[in-house]
Amino acid sequence: MLDGVLNFDLLDKCSKCGACFDVCPSCLNIEGYDPRAVIKDILAGQSGRWASSIHVWQCLECHQCLEMCYQHYGFENAMTAMRLYATAKGMHPPQVKRGWDMFVKTGRLGEPAAAGRKKLGLPEPGESGKEEFLKLLKLYREAKKGSQAQ
Ligand code: SF4
Ligand code: SF4
Repeated sequence: MLDGVLNFDLLDKCSKCGACFDVCPSCLNIEGYDPRAVIKDILAGQSGRWASSIHVWQCLECHQCLEMCYQHYGFENAMTAMRLYATAKGMHPPQVKRGWDMFVKTGRLGEPAAAGRKKLGLPEPGESGKEEFLKLLKLYREAKKGSQAQ
């Protein structure tokens, strides 16, 4: 299922190492969050069981695991692949879809809190760069469509 997306040789070494567990903030603070279990199931061809798990969305993408990994691989590759898989299957949390829809519409992941900014004496937020983003998105979609048609 994730063949071609993940390097299974590196993932196999990762499954036998496990060192990152002690430096990963999510592992240390979130009960049940354990990329080692996800990796074990991916290698066993059982990744589907994680597609609807909240745990795959609890990776902070802090890159701690990547930074310390002797093979420069990291837990995070497995967690990112699982998130992409879950999204492709429509099994992502509703907040992810809402965040994406807002990003495409406004170029932002959330609206700046005007009252809070005023209270702190902060200036008006800058432009989001939405127009440029939409142009890039259009080009990306056209290129993707073109490559699928070949
Ligand atoms: S990137 Fe994710 S898996 Fe890696 S250390 Fe950070 S939270 Fe943990
Ligand atoms: S990411 Fe690297 S250091 Fe961390 S458990 Fe896997 S192989 Fe070991």
